Amino acid sequence: MSHSPITASTALCAILGNPIEHSLSPLIHNAAFAHLKLNYVFLAFKVVHLQEAVKGIRALNLKGVSVTIPHKVEVMDYLDDVEKVAQKIGAVNTVLNQEGRLIGHNTDCSGAIRALEEKIALKGKKAMLIGAGGAARAIAFGLKEKGADITILNRTVKKAEILASELECHYGGLARVESFTPDVLINTTSLGMYPEVDDIPVRKEFLKDMLVFDIVYNPLKTRLIKEAEQNGCDTILGLEMFVHQAALQFEIWTGREAPLELMRSLVVEELS
Ligand code: NAP
Repeated sequence: MSHSPITASTALCAILGNPIEHSLSPLIHNAAFAHLKLNYVFLAFKVVHLQEAVKGIRALNLKGVSVTIPHKVEVMDYLDDVEKVAQKIGAVNTVLNQEGRLIGHNTDCSGAIRALEEKIALKGKKAMLIGAGGAARAIAFGLKEKGADITILNRTVKKAEILASELECHYGGLARVESFTPDVLINTTSLGMYPEVDDIPVRKEFLKDMLVFDIVYNPLKTRLIKEAEQNGCDTILGLEMFVHQAALQFEIWTGREAPLELMRSLVVEELS
């Protein structure tokens, strides 16, 4: 798989974030461009001054960008338009340069929903979200659109309450986990993420008769996923959300279907 030669007509896409050194996005997007023989290249930029960077997208005519921590909310101030769901979520992780107009999207939301819908039809299902941060917001709005019955539990109860009031759903503190019987449990906290791999947001005994989705993808199999599997639960790895959100970005920038299997295998190889 070799990249097209870089020429004067090569389209540039990039990821803007800080820190950015460990991003897997250049690896998977460049491989996907090469696989489809698209004359695109993808770079990572460590960005401190976001407004200046967005001016750079316009000035240098980048085709698209991925936006990551800590810029997903602020970037909305500098775009020409923000797609409806991203507006509700209040965060943008993808920008398309459409003939000079910068349009914001949120593929964290649709990426998580695609990963879930590979396993379960969400309408009417009881979905419990652990966490109420940025990723939880994105997933919660996607679940709402699909007609799931949502409960949000968070360490800081006030944050769960604020999100729940926007979604008109149930909420509470983490201590209330075991008073619910969800069809699907989604961990959106960073608990269990490398290097704190022994952390787990719920007791193993609770993990019975439910689909368990952990959005943490480093390690590939978190303690939550391992214990859910030991109890016979079906599971979804955070890797699936990561790959689906990246595939959706690729589709927004190129208008072509992303080579999902290739992207997945590269991430697995890198994180194994
Ligand atoms: P965030 O906005 O900072 O939210 C973090 C959440 O984790 C909050 O709800 C926070 O609770 C909770 N939390 C943190 N430490 C905790 C602890 N010790 N005990 C209990 N709760 C704790 O972060 P985010 O952007 O939503 O990201 C969260 C995780 O998702 C990260 O690990 C990130 O890598 C992962 N992620 C994965 C994907 C993917 O594609 N798979 C995409 C996005 C994010 P408080 O409100 O009480 O602080």
